[in-house]
Amino acid sequence: MKALEIKQLEKCYGNGFVALKGIDLDVHEGDFFALLGANGAGKSTAIGIVASLVNKTSGSVRVFGHDLDKEPEAVKRCIGLVPQEFNFNQFENVFDIVVSQAGYYGIARGKALERAEICLKQLDIWDKRAEASRMLSGGMKRRLMIARALVHEPKLLILDEPTAGVDIEMRRSMWAFFKKINAAGTTIILTTHYLEEAESLCRHIAIINKGEVIENTDMKGLLEKSVEEVFVLNLENHVEKVPDIPGCTICVVDETIWQVSVRKDTGVHTLFNELNNLNIKVTGIRNEFNRLEQFFLKLVESKKDEIGV
Ligand code: ADP
Repeated sequence: MKALEIKQLEKCYGNGFVALKGIDLDVHEGDFFALLGANGAGKSTAIGIVASLVNKTSGSVRVFGHDLDKEPEAVKRCIGLVPQEFNFNQFENVFDIVVSQAGYYGIARGKALERAEICLKQLDIWDKRAEASRMLSGGMKRRLMIARALVHEPKLLILDEPTAGVDIEMRRSMWAFFKKINAAGTTIILTTHYLEEAESLCRHIAIINKGEVIENTDMKGLLEKSVEEVFVLNLENHVEKVPDIPGCTICVVDETIWQVSVRKDTGVHTLFNELNNLNIKVTGIRNEFNRLEQFFLKLVESKKDEIGV
């Protein structure tokens, strides 16, 4: 079963700007799917259309088999959206915010109270239930947005930059939570600027660039496509002549720091064997980028070259 099926989706804003140029996208039930792209690529527009916040110009959207044009209410019931901006009433208390949301979906009051309690406990903000939402920290506000999005037990959860501005510790605990609900059956679509987040959570990935899907694949396949890994090496001593090592490109950053791109088919062990033979001692090494980040930058750059930007 497909959780989301987008065909030839186009969005032209009132000012004539074409934000989506006929995109196709499938997300399967149970998937954890990353939608990536630079600012202005069209991610929020696509998500906004699926969540009925933005009107499409043409194309079709189906969510768990329901057509957005023919059964918009059924589509809405399937979706829990966590938008980037906090959009709850700052003066309403935490519990009421979640209960009212259940009301929008026609959930009876008794059940709504029960669901609100479950969601707030899941997100670990049950003890804040009587506080006005404006009193919460940024991280707690994020968790309130997630609790609210889950109150009607959506089959598809859409997270738009869910951990923006969240400290690293809370980000990790949110990741664990997303993994848990995904394992329990909720399909998740995530947009994020933290490519590490996509790499560690998602099984499939689509990259949007200037309103077009330029990559749509599984995460493993994508990472295998990256041909180079970049390392930063700290050397024990300054090396006068930079060696020529096949399959490696060495860039001198500083007296004792090199940035080395190693082709995957060469392998990092070749680099170290050669440095060892040349008696060049390495005192530290780290990956310059995570692999997805590196791939993403290359892909977007190659598209820029193609269209001559
Ligand atoms: P992303 O979420 O990937 O950052 P958006 O979907 O928000 O991208 O925006 C895609 C493009 O559409 C951007 O160039 C943006 O300026 C434009 N855009 C977004 N909303 C509107 C609007 N209401 N009117 C006109 N242009 C818009």
